[in-house]
Amino acid sequence: MAIDLHTHSSYSDGTQTPRELLSEAASSGLSTIALTDHDTVLGWSEAAEAAAEFDLRLVRGMEVSCRHEGTTVHILSYLHEPEGSELSQTVADMRTAREERGRRMVELLSEDFPLSWEDIMAVVGPHATIGRPHIADALVAGGFAATRSEAFVHLLSPRGPYYVPIPAIAPADAVRMIHDAGGVAVFAHPLASTRGRVLDDRAIRELIESGLDGLEIDHRDNPPEGREKLRRTAEEHGLITTGSSDYHGAGKPNRLGENTTEPEQLERIAERAAGVEIL
Ligand code: AMP
Ligand code: FE
Ligand code: FE
Ligand code: ZN
Repeated sequence: MAIDLHTHSSYSDGTQTPRELLSEAASSGLSTIALTDHDTVLGWSEAAEAAAEFDLRLVRGMEVSCRHEGTTVHILSYLHEPEGSELSQTVADMRTAREERGRRMVELLSEDFPLSWEDIMAVVGPHATIGRPHIADALVAGGFAATRSEAFVHLLSPRGPYYVPIPAIAPADAVRMIHDAGGVAVFAHPLASTRGRVLDDRAIRELIESGLDGLEIDHRDNPPEGREKLRRTAEEHGLITTGSSDYHGAGKPNRLGENTTEPEQLERIAERAAGVEIL
C-alpha cells in the first residue's frame, strides 16, 4: 500500500482539483497521499472530503517557498495547524506578494510577447498560489512555448531576462515556524540541481542543526549519487526519510507514486506532529 507524500493541486500549480487528484491516487493504488500545495492550505478541505469518498489516507501538508543566500529551497510542512500561526500569516503574505511578482514578470514578457495579466488569470485556478507554471501555461496557450517545461528552459529561467525572484523566507525560519505551528519539516528535493543551485553540505548541516526533521531522498530530481549521500546524512543525524512524486498533474512528467515513503517513516512524522491528524 503505497504512500506518496508530495503532490500539487489547482490550489497551486497542479492541473487537477484536489478531488481529481485524490480520485486518481485511489485508482492508481496508493493508500496514502499528502497534498502539499505551494504556500497554501486552501485545498485541504476539498481534499479531506475526497479522502473520505475514495477511502484514502490523507496527510495534510504544504510546500513553503524559501531562499538561502540566493538559492531557492522548498521545505515541506506536514500536519501543522492551518490557522492562527506565524506560518499561516507568512504564507498568506507570500501569496499576495507572488501575485505582484507575477504581474511584474508578465509586464517584462509583454514587451516581447502579446501577453496580458488576463491571459494568466485565464489559466489560474480559483484561490491558487500564483507561480511561474501559470505564466508557462499562458505562454503555451498563446503558442509561444510547446510545453510548460519548454517555457522554463529560457523564457522563465532565473537566468533569463524576464525573471523576477519570488518572495521567500530563510529555510531555518520556515523550520521554526513549521514547528511553532505543530508541523513536521522535511527538506523537499534537496539536490534538485537541474532546477538551479542547491545547498552545499555545510548549509544542509546548518539546517539540520536548526531542527529540520527529514529529507526527501527518493525524488526524481535528486541524482542517484546525491541520494546515497543524503541517506548517509539522514542516518548520521537520525532524520526521517521520504520518497515522493511531486506530482503536478499534466504540468510535469512526474507520475503519482513513482517514488514512495516507507510506512515507518510516515509513522515517525505522525508521532512528531502536534498540529492536525492524518485523516
Ligand atoms: P515559482 O515558485 O513561481 O518560481 O515557480 C516554481 C515552480 O515551477 C516549481 O514549484 C515547479 O513546480 C515549477 N517548475 C520548475 N521548473 C520547472 C520545469 N522545468 N518544468 C515545469 N515546471 C517547473
Ligand atoms: Fe510546483
Ligand atoms: Fe518543490
Ligand atoms: Zn512540489
